[in-house]
Amino acid sequence: LYVEHPLGQGQSVPLERDQAHYLFGVMRLAVGARVALFNGQDGEWQAEVAEAGKRGGVLVCVDQSRPLQMPPDLWLLFAPIKKARTDFIVEKAAEMGAARIVPVQTEFTNSDRIRQDRLQAHAVEAAEQCGGTYVPEVTELTKLGRLLDAWPAGRQLMFCDEAEVGSALQLAQTERGLPWAILIGPEGGFSDRERTRLAALPSSHVVSLGPRILRADTAAVAAMTIWQKALGD
Ligand code: SAM
Repeated sequence: LYVEHPLGQGQSVPLERDQAHYLFGVMRLAVGARVALFNGQDGEWQAEVAEAGKRGGVLVCVDQSRPLQMPPDLWLLFAPIKKARTDFIVEKAAEMGAARIVPVQTEFTNSDRIRQDRLQAHAVEAAEQCGGTYVPEVTELTKLGRLLDAWPAGRQLMFCDEAEVGSALQLAQTERGLPWAILIGPEGGFSDRERTRLAALPSSHVVSLGPRILRADTAAVAAMTIWQKALGD
């Protein structure tokens, strides 16, 4: 169970109403039962139910069952598309171990707003479902130009473009030293101006994900898969 609370030996963790409903109403846990908790920072802790109510409750951390497992330092930058498909991208990126998820506004991105809290909640759910101890941060929607102006020194960028031919897998396998970021465009792809700007960034490497034009959500999963294969985890 994900909680927004520090975890540590003997630490009391108050529960929100919906968490209490899930544990005591749905799962039928009672005082003394054990629950595995994580908060994305302190690893996984076994906690004991100390108080159980309809509207709340308290768990007490007993021992740490797993330390925090950080994923490889790989970011996914993507241009938001339709709502359900954007949710899908965030969910899959979190499941596949992205360290940070960055929605990017490009020239052909249709939406100029995202529900960051909603997307973050999807990342939490994905981490819960795959037994992770880490939750990637979903950042605010940021303009591509602004991101590139302040691009972090040392971070390489795998720029995925259907107009290219260079193999993404080959790049990931030969350039395994992290940190890296993947960039996936919107339904309309990238503009010529953006392509020129990206080509001018010294740490950018433009690659193909194969001969077919993939939908943006498929492209995001394909690129994450390529990195998983290259990194061997
Ligand atoms: N507007 C483009 C078109 O119709 O020709 C297609 C854009 S595609 C639906 C969305 C994004 O997925 C692209 O900007 C790119 O980042 C990525 N993508 C899709 N297929 C790809 C491929 N074969 N190689 C590299 N990137 C790809």
